[in-house]
Amino acid sequence: MNHKKLTALALCSALLLGGCGTTTKQAAIINDNYRTNYEIFVYSFYDSDGDGIGDIKGITEKLDYLNDGNEKTDSDLGITGIWLTPVCPSTTYHKYDVTDYRDIDPEFGTMEDYEIFVEECHKRGIEVTFDFVMNHTSSKHPWFTEAVSYLKSLPEEATEADIDTKVCPYAGYYNFSKESKDGYVALDGTGWYYEARFWSEMPDTNLDNPTLQQEFIDIAKFWMDKGVDNFRLDAVTSYYTGNPEKNTEALTWLNDGIKAYNENAYIVGEAWTTQKEYASYYASGIDSFFDFAFADKDGVIAKTVKGQIPASSYAKALEKEEELYSSYSENYVNAPFYTNHDINRSAGYYSGDYASDMVKMAGGLNLMMSGNTYIYYGDEIGMKGSGKDENKRAPMQWTSNPGETGTCKGPQDMDDIEMLYGSLDNQMNDPGSIWSYYRDAIALRNSYPAIARGATTFVKESDTENSCIIKKSTEEYGDIYIAINPTEEAEAIGIEDVSETSLKIAAGLYANNINDKARIRSKVLSLPPYSIVILK
Ligand code: CA
Repeated sequence: MNHKKLTALALCSALLLGGCGTTTKQAAIINDNYRTNYEIFVYSFYDSDGDGIGDIKGITEKLDYLNDGNEKTDSDLGITGIWLTPVCPSTTYHKYDVTDYRDIDPEFGTMEDYEIFVEECHKRGIEVTFDFVMNHTSSKHPWFTEAVSYLKSLPEEATEADIDTKVCPYAGYYNFSKESKDGYVALDGTGWYYEARFWSEMPDTNLDNPTLQQEFIDIAKFWMDKGVDNFRLDAVTSYYTGNPEKNTEALTWLNDGIKAYNENAYIVGEAWTTQKEYASYYASGIDSFFDFAFADKDGVIAKTVKGQIPASSYAKALEKEEELYSSYSENYVNAPFYTNHDINRSAGYYSGDYASDMVKMAGGLNLMMSGNTYIYYGDEIGMKGSGKDENKRAPMQWTSNPGETGTCKGPQDMDDIEMLYGSLDNQMNDPGSIWSYYRDAIALRNSYPAIARGATTFVKESDTENSCIIKKSTEEYGDIYIAINPTEEAEAIGIEDVSETSLKIAAGLYANNINDKARIRSKVLSLPPYSIVILK
C-alpha cells in the first residue's frame, strides 16, 4: 500500500467515525449480472513500461484502485466488473479494426499479461468483459487481404456469382459487389466494391455466412477459455444497416452460440439508436443493451440534473422502460451508462456555480438505476473531453504531474484539455470531491442490492415538483425507497403516505455539501440541494 492510499484511507476512516451518512465500506460482491462496471479505454489508462501507451500490465497494477478485494477498506472505488475496449492486434490506437481475433496487440502487452489480468480480476471478484467487434475487421486482416488477392485473380468480367468460396472461403466473409452501392467503397485497382460503412479500412463482415458465424462463435469460445466472463458487442445496429429484424437474427445465433458454451456468460450490446429499436433487440435473448436514452448531454439523466425535466420524469422514465424491455424479454438486464469513449464527457455538460454538484448528481443518478451499470474511466474524477473522439479518450489523470510514471500520453491527435476538477491524488484526499462522491455512490449501490435489482415504481413528487421518491422492490432483498433532489434548492417532501412502515434515512449522497444532510421531522423529509437519500 502506498503513502497516498494510506492518507486517503485514514481520512475516510475519520469521516466514517464522524458519521458522513453513507456506508463507504464495500459490501460483499453478489455474483450476478447486476454489477457496477468500469469501462477502460486501454490506450489511455495506465502505462507499465514507459512508452506512454496504456497497457494490460498497467491495468493489473491499478486493480487495487478499482477494487482491492478487501471489504474492510474504502480506499478503492468498489467496481465489480471491467470492460476493456478492444485488445486484439489492430492498426489503430483504439483497436476497433482487428487484424487477429486470437491475440493481444503488442502495444498492450502479451497473452500472458491478459491471462494474469483476468486471474487478478477474479481474485477480487471482478468480472471481465471482452469487447467483441464483429461488424467489421481491419482491411489488414488476413481474411480480407486473402479475399482481395482472390478477387484480383478472377477475370475482369467476373461478377459476384463467380466468387467460389470453396476456393477462397474468405471471399464470403465480406460483402463484395461489382456495383457501387450505398455504404460501399471501391477496391483499389479492381472493378470491385466492398461494404465499409465506418471507414474504408474497416470492411463490413458478411454475417449471413454460416462459416463466419461459426468462426465468431469459436473466437468467443477462445476468449471464454482465457477466462473472459462477459462480452460487449460493438456496433450491433450496423450488422445489417437499417435492418433491425436481421440484426435481431444475428444477435440470436450469437447469443445461442456463446451460451451453449457457457450459460453464465453475460452479453451487452451497443445499439446506438432509438430506445424503441434497442428495446426490440432484447427479443434475441442478449442479456443487455446500453441504455442510450439516459446517456449523453441530452439524455434523461442530464436533462433531470439541468432541470429541463422534473425529477419525476427520471422516475417515470425508469418505470416505463422496465415495462418496455420486459415486453421483449423477461430476463432482460438493463445496462445503464452515462458516457463512454464515443460520447462527450459529462464535466462539459454543466456550467455555473453548481457545475461540480451537477457532475456528481448525474453520476449518482446513473448509479441508482436498476441493471448492470457502467462508468467510463475518469468520469469518477470529472475529467473533461469533448469534440473529436481523441479528446474523449484522454489520459487518466492519476496525478497533477503529466510526467509522472504510468501516466499515458493519450491519442496522438488529442487537443490540450484543461481539466476542471483536479487529478485523482488530489481528489482522494478531499471528502467533498467528485471521486469521494463516486466511491460513496458505488458503495451505496453495492450495499443495498435493491438499488440495482429492484423493480422501479414512481411514488410521489414534492409540491414544487423538484424532488421525488422512487420505490425499488425485490423479492430477495426487500424494498427500499430512493428520494432525489436534483436541484440547487432545499426540498421538503411528506413521507407519511409513502410506506406502511415508518421510514428512516439509511444513507445519503450529498453532492452540494457533505455536512448538510437529509432529515425527517414530523413525517416530512427535508432534502438538501443535489441529494440522493435511501429510505428503509
Ligand atoms: Ca505501455
